[in-house]
Order: sequence, then C-alpha cells, then structure tokens
Amino acid sequence: MKIIVCMKQVPLSSRVEIDQETGNLKRLGAQTRTNPFDLFALECALRIREQVGGTVTVLTMGPQQAESMVRDAYMMGADDAVILSDRKFAGSDVLATSYTLSQGIRALGGADLIICGRQTTDGDTAQIGPAMAEHLHLPHAAWVNAITAVDSEKIQVRQDLASVFQVSEMRYPCLITVDKDVCVPRLPSYRRKAAAAEKPIRVITLADLPDPDLTRFGLVGSPTTVERIFPPPAGGGSVTLEGTAAQKAGQLFDLLARAKYC
Ligand code: FAD
Repeated sequence: MKIIVCMKQVPLSSRVEIDQETGNLKRLGAQTRTNPFDLFALECALRIREQVGGTVTVLTMGPQQAESMVRDAYMMGADDAVILSDRKFAGSDVLATSYTLSQGIRALGGADLIICGRQTTDGDTAQIGPAMAEHLHLPHAAWVNAITAVDSEKIQVRQDLASVFQVSEMRYPCLITVDKDVCVPRLPSYRRKAAAAEKPIRVITLADLPDPDLTRFGLVGSPTTVERIFPPPAGGGSVTLEGTAAQKAGQLFDLLARAKYC
C-alpha cells in the first residue's frame, strides 16, 4: 500500500505582512510551522500503514526551507519525503498548486491513497485536495472526521458535511482530506531524531514532471488575481442585549436566526 501525505509549511503567526502590489503573503523570512491539519493527515497514514502495511511518503510543494517540516515528519515515522521546488512554481494559485502537486504524484508513480489536511491556516481554501483528485481523475472524500474501516483494497470514511454525516467507501486509488477530529497526532519521536537528520529528501523540479507545459505552473498557470487584500475593520457593529437571561437568550437567538446561523 503506497500512501502519499500532502503537507504544507505555513507561517507561524497570522500576522504576516502582505505585499500590497501583488496581494501575496510575504513568506520569505517568516517563521513557519507544519500546517496543523496536515499532522492529522500524517497520523492517519501512519495508522493505516501499521494496520495494512506499506509506505508513507510526504509530499510538499514550496521552497527548500520546507526541509525542517519534513524532518519532523520523519521523526513521526514517515518513510520518505519529496519537496516539489522550483522558482517557476512561485505565484501559484489553487489551480496551479493542485496541478503541480498532482504532477508530483504522477512523477512518483501514483499512490493507492492520498491524504491531505482539510485546509491550511494561510490560504485556507480547502480546495487543494478535491482539485488534485480531479486532476488525477480519482474519487475523493473531503471533510473526513473518522476512518471507520480500512483494508488493502478499500477505505471507509465518515464525512462531516455540516448538516449530515455521510459514510463513503472507496476502492484505491483515491484521495481523502481529513479534519482534526479524525485522530490525535503522535508526538515526534526523539529516538528517531538522529536517523531523521540523516534521511535523504528528494527534490523534484519542473523538469522532472511529466507535463512540460509551462503555462500550467506558477504565476503563468494561475488565473486568480488578487484585487485587494485588507484586514477586516476592528470592532464596530456590536450589540448590547438588555433584560433577563431568558430575554437576552431570545434576542440572541433572533439575531443569529436573522444572520442565518440557525
Ligand atoms: P487548502 O486547500 O486549504 O489545503 C488543503 C490541504 O492541501 C492541506 O492541508 C495540505 O494537505 C494540502 N496542501 C495545500 N498546499 C500544499 C502544498 N503547497 N504542498 C503540499 N500540500 C499542500 N502561495 C505560496 O506559497 N507562494 C506563492 O508565491 C503564492 N502565490 C499566490 C498567488 C496567487 C495569485 C494566489 C491566489 C495565491 C498564491 N499563493 C501562494 C497561495 C497558494 O495558492 C495557496 O496557499 C495554495 O493554493 C494552497 O491553497 P490553500 O493554502 O488554500 O490550501
């Protein structure tokens, strides 16, 4: 069983500077961490490997500084890791990022199971997993909050679709994106630290990908344009509720209902 886990290095803080001209985050020099949702994805992969056998490969697209994240993944138990890194990938939007990752997976010979986090804490779109599945023509299940059964041929998952839970079973190859309720990630093992520091990390560039069409990658392959980016205005619009606790609860319910939250 070959499992690929997609993991992204994200800025440590939400207070990241924005380039006012391009609307892009100024990532260079920002402190980073592993996207929290991707730790759940890795933990799921490790548990499936323990149950069914196979290998767990971490795949990330980003600058080579992603190596520190990959070393932590090794310390959690990943078997190998690949960084998709090329200056021509810079400026990728969701379409180009998902295409590049799917090309990376093709370059690795495909996978039985691809696991992504539900979303990142920087881009936050939750679109990469499903978009990759489309590029690879694979079935997928997003918003997975439990893996209810798994064997060497198929996986059964429970998806949290906001108003309903849906249980889906898919044969491999397929892709899932996992939520934080799915499991509790293990801590990196300090026993593995020395080995993790020595383990090789493969770097794949644009030249290694099966599709040589330059118009599908990086800024050129990104139809999204950022019109304007700004922090939401602080404060304002607050309402103070008056009356007894029961009256205030009623008023609060009305406010939420008008805003279509219930
Ligand atoms: P989500 O869809 O929220 O992520 C879901 C899951 O997909 C993650 O949990 C993870 O498992 C997987 N995943 C997502 N991204 C990666 C990745 N890179 N590697 C491995 N797995 C991943 N970002 C840059 O870093 N550099 C840029 O130069 C850049 N330029 C941009 C230019 C434009 C015009 C736009 C619109 C965006 C740009 N971005 C750039 C942001 C980038 O497009 C998104 O961060 C990227 O598409 C991932 O989307 P997301 O963060 O919303 O991921």
